[in-house]
Amino acid sequence: MDSGKKTGLRPRPNLGSGGTFSDTALPKPAITRPSVMQAPVLVLNATFEPINVTAVRRALVLLLKGVAQAEETNHSEVHSTSKAIQVPSVIRLLSYRHIPQQSRALSRKNILLRDRNTCQFCGTSFPASELTLDHVLPRSRGGRSSWENLVASCYSCNNRKGDRTPEEAGLKLQRRPRPFTLHTSRQLMRLIGHRDEKWRKYLFY
Ligand SMILES: [Zn+2]
Repeated sequence: MDSGKKTGLRPRPNLGSGGTFSDTALPKPAITRPSVMQAPVLVLNATFEPINVTAVRRALVLLLKGVAQAEETNHSEVHSTSKAIQVPSVIRLLSYRHIPQQSRALSRKNILLRDRNTCQFCGTSFPASELTLDHVLPRSRGGRSSWENLVASCYSCNNRKGDRTPEEAGLKLQRRPRPFTLHTSRQLMRLIGHRDEKWRKYLFY
């Protein structure tokens, strides 16, 4: 299938952030209730494996294009000019889509998402603006910019660490940094999905 780009279905860094879904593909006329359109929809692969969370707005596009079918709906309907459609809660792709093991770009945003906006040294949560990225093995010592060597850090811990390793600075990593994988995505999906009963059977097994 080649429609990944157009549908934006690959895992995206907006899991859980709400309200930032891209919606460029939807034809204008359809819908009038923005809050419903932004509600999260669980996206399953053709094999029922959960692969992403998207917004109702985009899920409807996938349904209308015939790329996906609704597996669960909630009680409301949306109306386009020609028909009423039940608002989906879970949709499933009709063709299997291969999800690469490491499908997320290495970026500040994704590192913060992986680390849940939590300083990996002191374990405190911060707004994104109060976090920086720390090279666990400092760049001056050959540390690379990679998923395994970059962590979210508050400025205080970052200053304390300076040009040293965590051990040298007396700091301890909360957990070993790993690439952002489907596993990470699924944890985030569960965080979002615990609110929606209809998601449960797909996420908790
Ligand atoms: Zn800290």
